[in-house]
Parts: sequence; C-alpha cells; structure tokens
Amino acid sequence: MPTYDPNNIFAKILRGEIPCQQVYADEWALAFHDIHPKAPTHVLVIPRGSYVDLHDFARHAKPEEIAGFYRAVAQVVDQLNLIQGYRTIANSGVHSGQEVPHFHLHILGGRPLGPMLMSA
Ligand code: AMP
Repeated sequence: MPTYDPNNIFAKILRGEIPCQQVYADEWALAFHDIHPKAPTHVLVIPRGSYVDLHDFARHAKPEEIAGFYRAVAQVVDQLNLIQGYRTIANSGVHSGQEVPHFHLHILGGRPLGPMLMSA
C-alpha cells in the first residue's frame, strides 16, 4: 500500500488551499463537481480522513468514518435528484488508472451511462 501523500490535490481542496465547486460538506465528507465531467452530473465524494484508496479506507477507517462517508454519499445523491439512477466508481491502484491518491467515489448520472466498461 503506498503511503498517503498530503500534497495530493484533494488534500489541498480539503485544507482549503485550492478551490472546488462544492456540492455538500459535513464532518465526514466533502463532495464537489469533477473538473472534467464525464456525464451531465459528475460529482466526487471524498472522506476527510487521509486514505489513499478504497482498500486503505475500508481496511483502516473507523466504523463511524465509513458510515458517515456513505451516509454523505446518499445525501449527495438525494441532493442531485438522480431519480433515474446513477453509477459510482472508485478507482484503486495502477490497473484502475487512479489519478488522485486520496480515496474518492465518482457519482455519475444525468443520462443513460452505457456499458460498465469499454471493451478492450
Ligand atoms: P481518478 O482517476 O479516479 O483518480 O479520478 C480523479 C478525478 O479527479 C478525475 O475525474 C479528474 O477530472 C478529477 N479532478 C482532478 N483535479 C480536480 C480538481 N481540482 N477539482 C475537481 N476535480 C478534479
């Protein structure tokens, strides 16, 4: 497991060092619009704690952090009014193409999203 880099861009957003287009915030999580949206709605939800990826979060976060994070995800989905459905993606590790090494869940929606993966 790589060590957490406190200078990653989402850590800077959490510290307020760079701006984001905020959608939701509470004690456990922050949600903001993806800077390069892949769907009409593309929001990222990140925990306030320092976790590299989903595996790190699931292994090391306290139960209340995990519950708080996923409750925040539900709150964001309700707020975005994605009544026709949505997709969540959590890239983890090299094969996933994860770009930012702070755990984040993509929430995508606003149109039919097509197949889960492009064929090779
Ligand atoms: P991933 O490949 O799963 O690590 O996704 C990282 C996502 O972060 C990409 O979809 C980027 O467009 C998005 N992103 C990178 N920098 C920013 C930023 N400053 N504000 C919002 N989204 C960002």
